[in-house]
Amino acid sequence: MYRKNVWSQLSQDEIQQAMAMGDAYRAYLDESKTERECVEASVRLARNEGFISLEEARAQGKLQPGARVYADWMGKSLIAFILGAQPMEKGMNILGAHIDSPRLDIKQNPLYEEESLGYLDTHYYGGIKKYQWVAVPLAMHGVVARKDGSIVKLSIGEKEEDPVFCISDLLVHLSGEQMKKTAAEVIEGETLNVIIGSIPLKGEEKEPVKKALLQLLKDSYQIEEEDFLSAEIEIVPAGKSRDMGLDRSLIAGYGHDDRVCAYPSLKALTDYSGTPERTLCCILTDKEEIGSVGATGMASHFFENVCAELLDAAGQYSELTLRRMLIRSCMLSSDVSAGYDPNFSSVFEKKNAALMGYGVCFNKFTGRGGKGGSNDANAEYIALVRRLMDDAQVCFQTAELGKVDVGGGGTIAYMCSKYGMSVIDAGIPVLSMHAPWEVISRADLYAAYKGYCAFLNCPAMDL
Ligand SMILES: [Zn+2]
Repeated sequence: MYRKNVWSQLSQDEIQQAMAMGDAYRAYLDESKTERECVEASVRLARNEGFISLEEARAQGKLQPGARVYADWMGKSLIAFILGAQPMEKGMNILGAHIDSPRLDIKQNPLYEEESLGYLDTHYYGGIKKYQWVAVPLAMHGVVARKDGSIVKLSIGEKEEDPVFCISDLLVHLSGEQMKKTAAEVIEGETLNVIIGSIPLKGEEKEPVKKALLQLLKDSYQIEEEDFLSAEIEIVPAGKSRDMGLDRSLIAGYGHDDRVCAYPSLKALTDYSGTPERTLCCILTDKEEIGSVGATGMASHFFENVCAELLDAAGQYSELTLRRMLIRSCMLSSDVSAGYDPNFSSVFEKKNAALMGYGVCFNKFTGRGGKGGSNDANAEYIALVRRLMDDAQVCFQTAELGKVDVGGGGTIAYMCSKYGMSVIDAGIPVLSMHAPWEVISRADLYAAYKGYCAFLNCPAMDL
């Protein structure tokens, strides 16, 4: 059961490859601050590697083995395929990850002023420690859908010359009472109000700062106050990811969870050349952080519907073919693992914890308490995955999320396993999960990419 540090296993050449992959991932992460931006970046990446949309492919005639296609849903969720030589009823090899991250969403009626400071009111999305989001520079990303159907895209706070935004914290000098509160109450949800301006409109008596800000929004973006009703504006940490450590082995940035799994999943698929035996698939899904609900989450029928469309486009559709295709599929459902943190060792059970720099991590189960809500992968399937990793000399480790009964969490795995397919949770260890800045190791990213490439050659399970 001896685990190997990835860095000590890599040749000089491979270390360079791991560094280069980290750089390419950083560029992808920096242009993917929201799920919408991540879909756009992913479509660009896929199109550069010869993928076309399913509609474009349909227009060219019947899909043939080797065809590279993708489908997106509402610009927030993406599925890409490479058609295999075998009939699709033999099943697919699927890599899946989610592309939404914890953040602060702007409320529907957000704009107000108090004592000449202009604010946007927010409602947080996903599980966050609220106190981590104050007194740090924030950026504003998203879309505003006007009543006439036109869309305004916003991205403010990323360029060097852009302004940033901030939520103020109480000065330490007056924090006697605040410091006695529990961490959950130090900053409350309704305190997460973002300062966006402070110059009043000349000659205005009532709400002059708000009026000036509305004027500014109208002049710069042609947005009226009522347009906030149909907007999705996300407040996220401002700025680009950074190399971390004197040796640059780590990357600090916003949204590693789960774009650090989405990137190598998509990259493994798009780097695949030729016609595979089994059909290959990559799912990048939305809404995982709030339970995978909604039309663009994994709990929706989008995945199943796209599979039906794919079968139809290849002239192979029947209801039974679809069921067989799903049940005979194998999947790595990737989400970040809790990296073992020596600063907080008491919550981990070390021999079953994910270590930073020890490779791609497999979780037989996740869940809470007695494995509640978990997928709990089949032993036979894990044996097959182990063999694939060992044959390709991929450094991997196994882990669970902390000590028994300390906490827990879920992923998209159980939603895919409802089709009866073989699914295991996989992913990359991260430190400070769900914090504004999270930390990953370049070595683990590289190992995951190699592991995902190896998985695409997974044979059918003998069921
Ligand atoms: Zn996640």
